[in-house]
Amino acid sequence: MPKSLYELGETPPLGEVPERMYASVIRQDRYGPPKQAFRTEVVDVPAVGAGEVLVYVMAAGINYNNVWASLGLPVDVIGMRQRQGLTEDFHIGGTDGSGVVWAVGEGVRHVRVGDRVVLSGGQYDEKDEDIMLGADVATSSSGRAWGYETNYGSFAQFCLVRDYQCHPMPERLSWEEAAGFVLCASTAYRQLFGWQGNTVQPGDPVLIWGGAGGLGSMAIQLVKMFGGVPIAVASGEARAQYCRDLGAKGVINRLEFDHWGRLPAMEDAEGMAKFLQGARAMGKQIWEIVGARKSPRIVFEHPGRDTLPTSLYLCASGGMVVTCGATTGYDGSIDLRHLWMRSKRLQGSHGANARQFRDVVSLVDAGLLDPCLSTCERFEDIGSLHQLLFDNAHPVGNMAVLVNARDRGTNTVEH
Ligand code: NAP
Repeated sequence: MPKSLYELGETPPLGEVPERMYASVIRQDRYGPPKQAFRTEVVDVPAVGAGEVLVYVMAAGINYNNVWASLGLPVDVIGMRQRQGLTEDFHIGGTDGSGVVWAVGEGVRHVRVGDRVVLSGGQYDEKDEDIMLGADVATSSSGRAWGYETNYGSFAQFCLVRDYQCHPMPERLSWEEAAGFVLCASTAYRQLFGWQGNTVQPGDPVLIWGGAGGLGSMAIQLVKMFGGVPIAVASGEARAQYCRDLGAKGVINRLEFDHWGRLPAMEDAEGMAKFLQGARAMGKQIWEIVGARKSPRIVFEHPGRDTLPTSLYLCASGGMVVTCGATTGYDGSIDLRHLWMRSKRLQGSHGANARQFRDVVSLVDAGLLDPCLSTCERFEDIGSLHQLLFDNAHPVGNMAVLVNARDRGTNTVEH
Protein backbone atom coordinates (compact mmCIF):
# COMPACT_ATOMS: atom_id res chain seq x y z
CA MET A 1 0.00 0.00 0.00
CA PRO A 2 1.65 3.31 -1.07
CA LYS A 3 2.31 5.75 1.76
CA SER A 4 0.94 9.27 1.56
CA LEU A 5 4.02 10.81 3.22
CA TYR A 6 7.64 9.69 3.50
CA GLU A 7 10.19 10.96 5.97
CA LEU A 8 13.19 12.89 4.62
CA GLY A 9 15.64 10.33 3.27
CA GLU A 10 13.07 7.53 3.33
CA THR A 11 12.96 6.74 -0.37
CA PRO A 12 9.69 5.71 -2.05
CA PRO A 13 9.90 3.08 -4.81
CA LEU A 14 11.23 4.76 -7.96
CA GLY A 15 8.41 6.60 -9.69
CA GLU A 16 5.90 6.27 -6.84
CA VAL A 17 4.71 9.78 -5.97
CA PRO A 18 3.24 10.29 -2.48
CA GLU A 19 0.41 12.80 -1.92
CA ARG A 20 2.27 14.91 0.63
CA MET A 21 5.83 16.08 1.21
CA TYR A 22 7.99 18.00 3.65
CA ALA A 23 8.93 21.48 2.45
CA SER A 24 10.68 24.54 3.86
CA VAL A 25 7.91 27.07 3.42
CA ILE A 26 7.63 30.86 3.49
CA ARG A 27 4.24 32.45 4.19
CA GLN A 28 3.21 36.10 4.00
CA ASP A 29 2.52 36.39 7.75
CA ARG A 30 6.12 35.31 8.44
CA TYR A 31 7.84 37.70 5.98
CA GLY A 32 10.95 39.08 7.64
CA PRO A 33 14.53 37.97 8.39
CA PRO A 34 15.11 34.49 6.91
CA LYS A 35 15.32 32.79 10.32
CA GLN A 36 11.77 33.86 10.99
CA ALA A 37 10.39 33.32 7.49
CA PHE A 38 11.31 29.69 6.71
CA ARG A 39 9.49 26.83 8.48
CA THR A 40 9.23 23.12 7.73
CA GLU A 41 5.66 22.13 6.85
CA VAL A 42 3.86 19.29 5.10
CA VAL A 43 2.20 20.31 1.82
CA ASP A 44 0.74 18.57 -1.23
CA VAL A 45 3.14 17.28 -3.87
CA PRO A 46 2.43 19.34 -7.01
CA ALA A 47 0.79 17.83 -10.07
CA VAL A 48 3.05 17.39 -13.11
CA GLY A 49 1.87 19.19 -16.23
CA ALA A 50 2.91 18.94 -19.87
CA GLY A 51 6.62 19.57 -20.37
CA GLU A 52 7.23 19.37 -16.62
CA VAL A 53 9.39 17.06 -14.51
CA LEU A 54 8.98 16.09 -10.86
CA VAL A 55 12.38 15.62 -9.21
CA TYR A 56 13.07 13.78 -5.95
CA VAL A 57 15.43 16.34 -4.41
CA MET A 58 18.64 15.00 -2.91
CA ALA A 59 20.29 18.35 -2.08
CA ALA A 60 19.49 22.02 -2.57
CA GLY A 61 21.69 25.09 -3.02
CA ILE A 62 21.29 28.30 -1.01
CA ASN A 63 21.11 31.58 -2.94
CA TYR A 64 20.56 35.20 -2.13
CA ASN A 65 17.24 35.37 -4.03
CA ASN A 66 15.41 33.59 -1.22
CA VAL A 67 16.69 36.16 1.23
CA TRP A 68 14.58 38.57 -0.85
CA ALA A 69 11.70 36.07 -0.90
CA SER A 70 11.73 35.75 2.90
CA LEU A 71 11.74 39.53 3.37
CA GLY A 72 8.85 39.92 0.93
CA LEU A 73 10.97 42.70 -0.59
CA PRO A 74 11.29 44.23 -3.11
CA VAL A 75 8.59 41.82 -4.31
CA ASP A 76 5.96 39.88 -2.38
CA VAL A 77 6.41 36.74 -4.48
CA ILE A 78 3.28 35.01 -3.11
CA GLY A 79 1.08 38.04 -3.77
CA MET A 80 2.62 38.48 -7.21
CA ARG A 81 1.71 34.90 -8.20
CA GLN A 82 -1.80 35.26 -6.78
CA ARG A 83 -2.29 38.36 -8.94
CA GLN A 84 -1.25 36.20 -11.90
CA GLY A 85 -4.10 33.78 -11.04
CA LEU A 86 -2.21 31.10 -9.08
CA THR A 87 -3.86 30.05 -5.84
CA GLU A 88 -1.09 28.87 -3.48
CA ASP A 89 -0.68 30.97 -0.34
CA PHE A 90 2.89 29.80 0.32
CA HIS A 91 6.31 29.89 -1.31
CA ILE A 92 8.72 26.98 -1.66
CA GLY A 93 12.02 28.50 -2.75
CA GLY A 94 15.26 26.98 -3.98
CA THR A 95 16.83 27.81 -7.37
CA ASP A 96 19.61 25.21 -7.29
CA GLY A 97 19.30 21.48 -6.71
CA SER A 98 20.25 17.94 -7.58
CA GLY A 99 18.17 14.80 -7.52
CA VAL A 100 16.45 12.00 -9.38
CA VAL A 101 13.69 12.33 -11.98
CA TRP A 102 10.57 10.79 -10.36
CA ALA A 103 7.80 11.60 -12.87
CA VAL A 104 7.56 13.29 -16.26
CA GLY A 105 4.67 15.11 -17.88
CA GLU A 106 3.27 14.76 -21.35
CA GLY A 107 5.65 15.62 -24.17
CA VAL A 108 8.90 15.26 -22.15
CA ARG A 109 11.37 13.47 -24.40
CA HIS A 110 14.93 13.98 -23.22
CA VAL A 111 14.58 13.16 -19.52
CA ARG A 112 13.48 9.81 -18.08
CA VAL A 113 12.37 8.54 -14.67
CA GLY A 114 15.49 7.48 -12.78
CA ASP A 115 17.85 10.01 -14.41
CA ARG A 116 20.19 11.72 -11.93
CA VAL A 117 20.10 15.41 -12.67
CA VAL A 118 21.41 18.79 -11.69
CA LEU A 119 18.89 21.58 -12.08
CA SER A 120 19.19 25.04 -13.59
CA GLY A 121 17.07 27.94 -12.47
CA GLY A 122 15.77 29.76 -15.56
CA GLN A 123 12.18 29.13 -16.64
CA TYR A 124 10.51 30.54 -19.74
CA ASP A 125 7.69 29.76 -22.11
CA GLU A 126 9.18 28.18 -25.21
CA LYS A 127 6.09 29.28 -27.15
CA ASP A 128 6.43 32.91 -26.14
CA GLU A 129 6.42 35.16 -29.20
CA ASP A 130 9.84 36.69 -28.54
CA ILE A 131 11.43 33.24 -28.27
CA MET A 132 9.64 32.05 -31.43
CA LEU A 133 11.16 35.10 -33.14
CA GLY A 134 14.65 34.12 -32.06
CA ALA A 135 15.28 35.95 -28.76
CA ASP A 136 17.84 34.54 -26.33
CA VAL A 137 15.58 32.75 -23.82
CA ALA A 138 17.27 34.53 -20.90
CA THR A 139 15.90 37.83 -22.25
CA SER A 140 12.35 36.56 -22.88
CA SER A 141 9.49 38.52 -21.34
CA SER A 142 8.21 35.12 -20.15
CA GLY A 143 11.43 34.51 -18.16
CA ARG A 144 11.07 33.60 -14.46
CA ALA A 145 13.56 32.57 -11.79
CA TRP A 146 12.48 29.08 -10.70
CA GLY A 147 12.14 28.79 -6.91
CA TYR A 148 11.95 32.55 -6.55
CA GLU A 149 9.38 33.97 -8.95
CA THR A 150 7.89 30.49 -9.40
CA ASN A 151 6.81 28.07 -6.67
CA TYR A 152 7.96 24.50 -5.95
CA GLY A 153 11.70 25.08 -5.86
CA SER A 154 14.27 22.71 -4.40
CA PHE A 155 13.58 23.32 -0.69
CA ALA A 156 11.23 20.32 -0.54
CA GLN A 157 11.26 16.54 -0.97
CA PHE A 158 9.98 16.99 -4.53
CA CYS A 159 10.40 19.96 -6.84
CA LEU A 160 8.76 20.87 -10.13
CA VAL A 161 10.84 21.97 -13.11
CA ARG A 162 10.54 22.28 -16.88
CA ASP A 163 12.34 19.50 -18.79
CA TYR A 164 15.02 21.85 -20.15
CA GLN A 165 16.11 22.62 -16.57
CA CYS A 166 17.48 19.08 -16.14
CA HIS A 167 21.17 18.47 -16.90
CA PRO A 168 23.11 15.21 -16.48
CA MET A 169 24.64 15.07 -13.00
CA PRO A 170 28.47 15.11 -13.15
CA GLU A 171 29.68 11.73 -11.85
CA ARG A 172 32.53 13.31 -9.91
CA LEU A 173 30.25 15.30 -7.64
CA SER A 174 28.33 14.51 -4.48
CA TRP A 175 24.66 15.52 -4.34
CA GLU A 176 25.46 18.63 -2.34
CA GLU A 177 28.33 19.72 -4.60
CA ALA A 178 26.06 19.32 -7.63
CA ALA A 179 23.33 21.30 -5.91
CA GLY A 180 25.36 24.34 -4.97
CA PHE A 181 26.89 26.02 -8.00
CA VAL A 182 24.72 26.21 -11.13
CA LEU A 183 22.95 29.53 -10.52
CA CYS A 184 26.06 31.48 -9.55
CA ALA A 185 28.33 29.82 -12.10
CA SER A 186 25.96 30.35 -15.02
CA THR A 187 25.12 33.93 -14.07
CA ALA A 188 28.83 34.75 -13.79
CA TYR A 189 29.54 32.97 -17.07
CA ARG A 190 26.91 34.98 -18.93
CA GLN A 191 28.14 38.23 -17.36
CA LEU A 192 31.71 37.54 -18.45
CA PHE A 193 31.21 35.88 -21.84
CA GLY A 194 27.66 36.65 -22.91
CA TRP A 195 27.94 40.26 -24.06
CA GLN A 196 29.58 40.52 -27.46
CA GLY A 197 32.19 43.26 -27.74
CA ASN A 198 32.98 43.00 -24.05
CA THR A 199 33.81 39.37 -23.35
CA VAL A 200 36.91 38.47 -21.33
CA GLN A 201 39.99 38.44 -23.56
CA PRO A 202 43.48 37.20 -22.62
CA GLY A 203 45.26 39.79 -20.52
CA ASP A 204 42.10 41.76 -19.63
CA PRO A 205 41.98 42.97 -16.04
CA VAL A 206 38.55 42.19 -14.56
CA LEU A 207 37.41 43.70 -11.26
CA ILE A 208 35.24 41.28 -9.27
CA TRP A 209 33.19 42.56 -6.34
CA GLY A 210 32.47 40.07 -3.55
CA GLY A 211 35.22 37.74 -4.79
CA ALA A 212 34.71 35.25 -1.95
CA GLY A 213 30.93 35.06 -2.46
CA GLY A 214 28.86 32.72 -4.59
CA LEU A 215 29.13 34.72 -7.82
CA GLY A 216 32.62 36.04 -7.14
CA SER A 217 34.19 32.63 -6.49
CA MET A 218 32.91 31.46 -9.88
CA ALA A 219 33.93 34.68 -11.64
CA ILE A 220 37.54 34.56 -10.40
CA GLN A 221 37.98 31.04 -11.76
CA LEU A 222 36.29 31.77 -15.09
CA VAL A 223 38.34 34.90 -15.75
CA LYS A 224 41.56 33.06 -14.94
CA MET A 225 40.56 30.05 -17.06
CA PHE A 226 40.13 32.26 -20.14
CA GLY A 227 43.37 34.18 -19.66
CA GLY A 228 42.04 37.31 -17.98
CA VAL A 229 43.49 38.92 -14.86
CA PRO A 230 41.03 38.60 -11.95
CA ILE A 231 41.25 41.33 -9.33
CA ALA A 232 38.91 40.62 -6.43
CA VAL A 233 37.37 42.84 -3.78
CA ALA A 234 36.63 41.31 -0.38
CA SER A 235 36.18 42.31 3.24
CA GLY A 236 38.91 40.98 5.47
CA GLU A 237 42.01 38.84 5.12
CA ALA A 238 40.39 35.39 5.35
CA ARG A 239 38.15 36.15 2.37
CA ALA A 240 41.07 37.77 0.53
CA GLN A 241 43.17 34.62 0.95
CA TYR A 242 40.32 32.51 -0.41
CA CYS A 243 40.21 34.74 -3.51
CA ARG A 244 43.96 34.41 -4.02
CA ASP A 245 43.70 30.62 -3.65
CA LEU A 246 41.07 30.60 -6.40
CA GLY A 247 43.39 32.50 -8.72
CA ALA A 248 42.89 36.22 -8.07
CA LYS A 249 46.04 38.15 -9.03
CA GLY A 250 45.37 40.51 -6.13
CA VAL A 251 42.64 41.46 -3.69
CA ILE A 252 41.42 44.86 -2.54
CA ASN A 253 40.12 45.10 1.01
CA ARG A 254 37.01 47.24 0.70
CA LEU A 255 37.03 47.96 4.45
CA GLU A 256 39.98 50.32 3.83
CA PHE A 257 37.66 52.68 1.92
CA ASP A 258 34.64 54.75 2.89
CA HIS A 259 33.44 56.48 -0.27
CA TRP A 260 30.47 54.14 -0.82
CA GLY A 261 26.87 54.81 -1.62
CA ARG A 262 25.01 57.03 -4.04
CA LEU A 263 26.94 59.83 -5.70
CA PRO A 264 26.94 63.18 -3.92
CA ALA A 265 24.78 65.90 -5.49
CA MET A 266 26.41 67.78 -8.42
CA GLU A 267 26.64 70.95 -6.32
CA ASP A 268 28.35 69.14 -3.43
CA ALA A 269 32.01 69.79 -4.31
CA GLU A 270 33.30 68.45 -1.00
CA GLY A 271 31.30 65.22 -1.28
CA MET A 272 32.42 64.72 -4.88
CA ALA A 273 36.06 65.28 -3.90
CA LYS A 274 35.75 62.61 -1.21
CA PHE A 275 34.18 60.19 -3.67
CA LEU A 276 36.92 60.80 -6.26
CA GLN A 277 39.66 60.43 -3.67
CA GLY A 278 38.35 56.99 -2.65
CA ALA A 279 37.69 55.82 -6.20
CA ARG A 280 41.13 56.99 -7.43
CA ALA A 281 42.90 55.31 -4.50
CA MET A 282 41.16 52.08 -5.39
CA GLY A 283 42.13 52.53 -9.04
CA LYS A 284 45.74 52.95 -7.98
CA GLN A 285 45.61 49.65 -6.10
CA ILE A 286 44.29 48.00 -9.25
CA TRP A 287 47.22 49.33 -11.31
CA GLU A 288 49.64 48.08 -8.66
CA ILE A 289 48.10 44.61 -8.79
CA VAL A 290 48.08 44.53 -12.61
CA GLY A 291 51.63 45.93 -12.75
CA ALA A 292 50.66 48.51 -15.38
CA ARG A 293 48.31 51.50 -15.74
CA LYS A 294 45.58 49.23 -17.08
CA SER A 295 42.03 49.66 -15.79
CA PRO A 296 39.46 46.85 -15.69
CA ARG A 297 37.99 46.05 -19.12
CA ILE A 298 35.10 44.46 -17.28
CA VAL A 299 33.74 45.30 -13.84
CA PHE A 300 31.71 42.43 -12.42
CA GLU A 301 28.92 44.16 -10.45
CA HIS A 302 26.23 42.95 -8.07
CA PRO A 303 26.44 44.97 -4.80
CA GLY A 304 24.54 47.85 -6.47
CA ARG A 305 23.98 51.15 -4.68
CA ASP A 306 27.18 51.12 -2.59
CA THR A 307 29.55 50.34 -5.45
CA LEU A 308 28.03 51.32 -8.80
CA PRO A 309 29.53 54.85 -8.99
CA THR A 310 32.96 53.42 -8.24
CA SER A 311 32.52 50.62 -10.76
CA LEU A 312 31.68 53.03 -13.52
CA TYR A 313 34.55 55.33 -12.61
CA LEU A 314 37.13 52.51 -12.51
CA CYS A 315 36.04 50.78 -15.73
CA ALA A 316 38.44 51.25 -18.67
CA SER A 317 37.50 53.32 -21.72
CA GLY A 318 35.35 51.18 -23.98
CA GLY A 319 34.92 48.69 -21.15
CA MET A 320 31.79 47.30 -19.52
CA VAL A 321 30.23 47.33 -16.07
CA VAL A 322 28.00 44.26 -16.07
CA THR A 323 25.51 43.83 -13.26
CA CYS A 324 23.10 41.11 -12.16
CA GLY A 325 22.05 42.32 -8.74
CA ALA A 326 21.84 44.95 -6.05
CA THR A 327 22.54 43.48 -2.63
CA THR A 328 23.01 46.93 -1.08
CA GLY A 329 20.07 48.56 -2.89
CA TYR A 330 18.75 48.86 -6.43
CA ASP A 331 18.67 52.66 -6.41
CA GLY A 332 22.23 52.97 -7.71
CA SER A 333 23.46 56.21 -9.24
CA ILE A 334 25.92 56.92 -12.04
CA ASP A 335 27.90 59.88 -13.28
CA LEU A 336 26.80 59.95 -16.91
CA ARG A 337 30.01 61.73 -17.91
CA HIS A 338 31.97 58.62 -17.01
CA LEU A 339 29.63 56.62 -19.25
CA TRP A 340 29.61 58.69 -22.43
CA MET A 341 32.97 60.46 -22.39
CA ARG A 342 34.83 57.14 -22.32
CA SER A 343 32.29 55.12 -24.30
CA LYS A 344 31.70 52.74 -21.43
CA ARG A 345 28.87 50.24 -21.34
CA LEU A 346 26.52 49.54 -18.44
CA GLN A 347 25.05 46.12 -19.12
CA GLY A 348 22.31 44.28 -17.26
CA SER A 349 22.60 40.50 -17.15
CA HIS A 350 20.12 38.09 -15.60
CA GLY A 351 20.44 34.33 -15.25
CA ALA A 352 21.58 32.40 -18.30
CA ASN A 353 20.29 30.44 -21.26
CA ALA A 354 20.24 26.65 -21.64
CA ARG A 355 23.56 26.63 -23.51
CA GLN A 356 25.28 28.65 -20.78
CA PHE A 357 23.80 26.46 -18.03
CA ARG A 358 25.07 23.37 -19.80
CA ASP A 359 28.49 24.95 -20.39
CA VAL A 360 29.14 25.53 -16.70
CA VAL A 361 27.94 22.03 -15.79
CA SER A 362 30.42 20.72 -18.41
CA LEU A 363 33.25 22.83 -16.98
CA VAL A 364 32.60 21.36 -13.52
CA ASP A 365 32.22 17.88 -14.98
CA ALA A 366 35.63 18.25 -16.63
CA GLY A 367 37.21 19.32 -13.35
CA LEU A 368 38.04 22.79 -14.70
CA LEU A 369 35.64 24.75 -12.49
CA ASP A 370 35.50 24.10 -8.75
CA PRO A 371 31.89 24.31 -7.50
CA CYS A 372 33.31 25.92 -4.34
CA LEU A 373 30.95 24.28 -1.90
CA SER A 374 32.12 25.34 1.54
CA THR A 375 29.16 24.44 3.71
CA CYS A 376 26.56 21.70 3.70
CA GLU A 377 23.98 21.55 6.48
CA ARG A 378 20.64 19.85 7.14
CA PHE A 379 17.19 20.59 5.74
CA GLU A 380 16.15 22.36 8.96
CA ASP A 381 19.05 24.82 8.49
CA ILE A 382 17.65 26.42 5.31
CA GLY A 383 16.47 29.48 7.26
CA SER A 384 19.66 29.93 9.27
CA LEU A 385 21.89 29.64 6.16
CA HIS A 386 19.86 32.35 4.42
CA GLN A 387 20.17 34.41 7.59
CA LEU A 388 23.98 34.17 7.29
CA LEU A 389 23.73 35.52 3.73
CA PHE A 390 21.47 38.34 4.90
CA ASP A 391 23.96 39.26 7.64
CA ASN A 392 26.96 38.95 5.26
CA ALA A 393 28.35 36.47 7.81
CA HIS A 394 28.29 33.46 5.50
CA PRO A 395 31.27 31.25 4.76
CA VAL A 396 33.13 31.67 1.47
CA GLY A 397 31.87 30.16 -1.79
CA ASN A 398 28.56 28.31 -2.09
CA MET A 399 26.31 26.64 0.49
CA ALA A 400 23.88 23.72 0.24
CA VAL A 401 21.64 21.53 2.40
CA LEU A 402 20.88 17.82 2.23
CA VAL A 403 17.24 17.16 1.45
CA ASN A 404 16.65 13.45 0.83
CA ALA A 405 20.35 12.53 0.77
CA ARG A 406 21.16 10.90 4.10
CA ASP A 407 24.89 11.62 4.20
CA ARG A 408 27.32 14.13 2.82
CA GLY A 409 29.72 12.97 0.12
CA THR A 410 27.35 10.51 -1.56
CA ASN A 411 25.78 10.52 -5.02
CA THR A 412 23.58 7.45 -5.02
CA VAL A 413 20.04 6.88 -3.70
CA GLU A 414 19.63 4.57 -0.73
CA HIS A 415 16.48 2.47 -0.54
P1 NAP B 1 27.02 36.34 -1.72
O1 NAP B 1 27.55 34.95 -1.74
O2 NAP B 1 26.40 36.88 -0.50
O3 NAP B 1 28.21 37.28 -2.17
C1 NAP B 1 28.04 38.66 -2.27
C2 NAP B 1 29.25 39.37 -1.75
O4 NAP B 1 29.01 40.76 -1.87
C3 NAP B 1 29.53 39.15 -0.28
O5 NAP B 1 30.28 38.00 -0.07
C4 NAP B 1 30.24 40.42 0.13
O6 NAP B 1 31.64 40.21 0.04
C5 NAP B 1 29.88 41.41 -0.97
N1 NAP B 1 29.25 42.58 -0.37
C6 NAP B 1 28.33 42.62 0.61
N2 NAP B 1 28.05 43.89 0.93
C7 NAP B 1 28.84 44.67 0.14
C8 NAP B 1 29.02 46.06 0.03
N3 NAP B 1 28.35 46.93 0.79
N4 NAP B 1 29.92 46.52 -0.89
C9 NAP B 1 30.62 45.64 -1.67
N5 NAP B 1 30.49 44.31 -1.58
C10 NAP B 1 29.59 43.83 -0.69
O7 NAP B 1 25.90 36.52 -2.86
P2 NAP B 1 25.92 36.04 -4.38
O8 NAP B 1 25.27 34.71 -4.46
O9 NAP B 1 27.28 36.21 -4.92
O10 NAP B 1 24.91 37.08 -5.02
C11 NAP B 1 25.22 38.47 -5.01
C12 NAP B 1 24.03 39.28 -5.52
O11 NAP B 1 23.75 38.90 -6.87
C13 NAP B 1 22.73 39.05 -4.74
O12 NAP B 1 22.05 40.28 -4.62
C14 NAP B 1 21.93 38.09 -5.62
O13 NAP B 1 20.54 38.21 -5.44
C15 NAP B 1 22.39 38.51 -7.00
N6 NAP B 1 22.32 37.44 -8.02
C16 NAP B 1 21.64 37.67 -9.17
C17 NAP B 1 21.54 36.69 -10.13
C18 NAP B 1 20.80 36.96 -11.39
O14 NAP B 1 20.69 36.09 -12.25
N7 NAP B 1 20.28 38.14 -11.61
C19 NAP B 1 22.15 35.44 -9.91
C20 NAP B 1 22.87 35.23 -8.74
C21 NAP B 1 22.95 36.25 -7.79
P3 NAP B 1 32.69 41.03 0.95
O15 NAP B 1 31.99 41.45 2.21
O16 NAP B 1 33.77 40.03 1.19
O17 NAP B 1 33.14 42.19 0.11
